[in-house]
Amino acid sequence: MWISWCMFFKKRPVIIITSNDSGRTHRWKEFVLKTLNRLTVIRLRLIFITVVAGQWLFSQTVDAPYEVATWWGFRKAAISYTFDDGCPNQLAIAVPLFDEFGFPLTLFAVTDWSPDWNALRRAAARGHEIASHTVSHPHLDELNEEAQIAELKNSRDEINAQVTNQKCLTIAYPYCVAGDDSICAEYYLAARACQGYIESNNPDNFLNISSIICGSVGFVKTAADFQDSADQAASVNGWCVYLIHGLDTENDGWSPTSSDALRRSLEYLDAHRNTFWVATFVDVVRYIRERNAVSVIETACRENRIAVRVTDTLKNEIYNHPITIRRPLPDGWLSASVRQGERLINSQVVVVDMVRYIMFDAVPDDKKVIITSSTATGFKNH
Ligand SMILES: [Zn+2]
Repeated sequence: MWISWCMFFKKRPVIIITSNDSGRTHRWKEFVLKTLNRLTVIRLRLIFITVVAGQWLFSQTVDAPYEVATWWGFRKAAISYTFDDGCPNQLAIAVPLFDEFGFPLTLFAVTDWSPDWNALRRAAARGHEIASHTVSHPHLDELNEEAQIAELKNSRDEINAQVTNQKCLTIAYPYCVAGDDSICAEYYLAARACQGYIESNNPDNFLNISSIICGSVGFVKTAADFQDSADQAASVNGWCVYLIHGLDTENDGWSPTSSDALRRSLEYLDAHRNTFWVATFVDVVRYIRERNAVSVIETACRENRIAVRVTDTLKNEIYNHPITIRRPLPDGWLSASVRQGERLINSQVVVVDMVRYIMFDAVPDDKKVIITSSTATGFKNH
């Protein structure tokens, strides 16, 4: 007995009986199979509808000749520096070092380990991300559902109560071991583990983002190691997430990273700002989700003025990171300025493969973007 599937969604599967069962068994089997087939067809239709609706809700729709950047600023890679366990030198050395370069970092705090909330609030005010490393640093996979919820929810709520100038939206798993994904998804947009590879620009699972362990027992020890992994990310348009604990001495925390190597790594990224986008863990997550869901529609194109609608279907209170878009400058335009609503937004003319583009940063679901021809001639090779 076998089942052939005809025209997957248009027609019900056809049952072809090839056995020589007796009449009664035959009719009974036929009934069971028909019922199963109907249920399968209903389920397949539901999956089909979900996939189609999902594509409509979450896929990118971009009018020609617009392009949406894989990474902010059309950079080749995203780089996130994440710090676990609240080791003292993270606040004493790393935060001031990153501030010096104007690069943001992510601090994953264990809320029962007496974090320095004042210092974390000050760091958040300067654009650093304060996120969760649970309440008590357990192996989440060894906890029952209730205990996992307590670790995930209570740490998030405590951070939100203490650090009110940002939202706690991401988590790093203690020992890089995930618990139940469905529980995690209730409380967080994304979670970091430490598989040791460069993450893709379209992660398979936002609740299991890869990072690379740094420091004395990690894979990245020296300035050259930092540079190699960043370059590797650029070569595959990927996302390099570093995982750092202590700095400079074993007394500060596990697998200490040399602060000199860290400084030289930032110097390298600073010298190649057109290649690398250094961002907090959560901002990279926001960017990926927004650019994958964005719709860029040109609503008017006149001699000196173009109107563009940039929208998505995501929650605006969370997904409000600007995404980078470009289009070739129309013939006869020397340059352009770009506004979103009344606000002048970050924009520049760049030349890529001999084509002059106007590149700008727009927040999806904000006001309409207006590109206006201007006579300024300053532009930048990209
Ligand atoms: Zn830890």
